Amino acid sequence: MLVNMTKYVKTASQSDTIVPAFNVFGYEDAFAVIRAAEKFHAPAILMSNSDSVEHMDLKHSAALYRSLGEATDIPVSIHLDHAKTFELILRGVEAGYTSVMYDGSALSLEENIENTQEVIELAEKHNISVEAELGSVPYIDRNEEVKSILTSPEEAGIFTRKARVNGLAVAVGSLHRMQTRRAKLDFNRIVEIEHNTDVPLVIHGFSGIIAGDIKRLCSTTVGKVNIGTELRLTFGNSLKSEIELNPDEFDRVKLFKKPMKAVQDAVEEKYRLLGWEEKE
Ligand SMILES: [Zn+2]
Repeated sequence: MLVNMTKYVKTASQSDTIVPAFNVFGYEDAFAVIRAAEKFHAPAILMSNSDSVEHMDLKHSAALYRSLGEATDIPVSIHLDHAKTFELILRGVEAGYTSVMYDGSALSLEENIENTQEVIELAEKHNISVEAELGSVPYIDRNEEVKSILTSPEEAGIFTRKARVNGLAVAVGSLHRMQTRRAKLDFNRIVEIEHNTDVPLVIHGFSGIIAGDIKRLCSTTVGKVNIGTELRLTFGNSLKSEIELNPDEFDRVKLFKKPMKAVQDAVEEKYRLLGWEEKE
């Protein structure tokens, strides 16, 4: 069933579970994410990032993911990640995304609040949930100095009083696109942010967070984590080995079988790590 993410992310933020959100790029990984989530009777969040938006028009990705979401009993949200312009948000809304992230993290606090308020106004009309970002989670693979602007707890309070978002992405030590687990989270900062806002927190750059910190994160008010790199690695590496093992195979449907299963297994592992129990 298709839903926005408001309710279940709030519930997760108040419990010892976190809802994982996955960047997906087409049928194969979206299908695998939903099959995995069904085992836990958990919500599934399918996200389109900027690479995906470039690869496939939002109209097509929304139609595909909506149809997958409508075909299952678990709650499924289709989330447009890191939209930096109102124009892109509007396109996402019109295409049928049930949730959007407005990323005004590079702007001043005032501008970020103002733009987020506009997005909330639009989203409310369409029953869509809104995530915003405060502070900046850097990208490790971009040709820029890896500079993290950690979220100020005080600004988090000001921001969420003025812009009532359904999730606030905070910069607390994680990095985008890390291929190994090396990032340590600043839990003191998380606690301070929690004191200043009742909005569920969102962590981007999950693939790089060290194992010990993940368990600890479940008892905070973090309600959603974004996972991208790990699934891309899983799919890509599995596909590479399939091609090497079957040099004469040309049928993509056959070559995709094992990578899809590998992605499903990896997603199931994430649900377990984030406090979910299998129901079957
Ligand atoms: Zn992100």
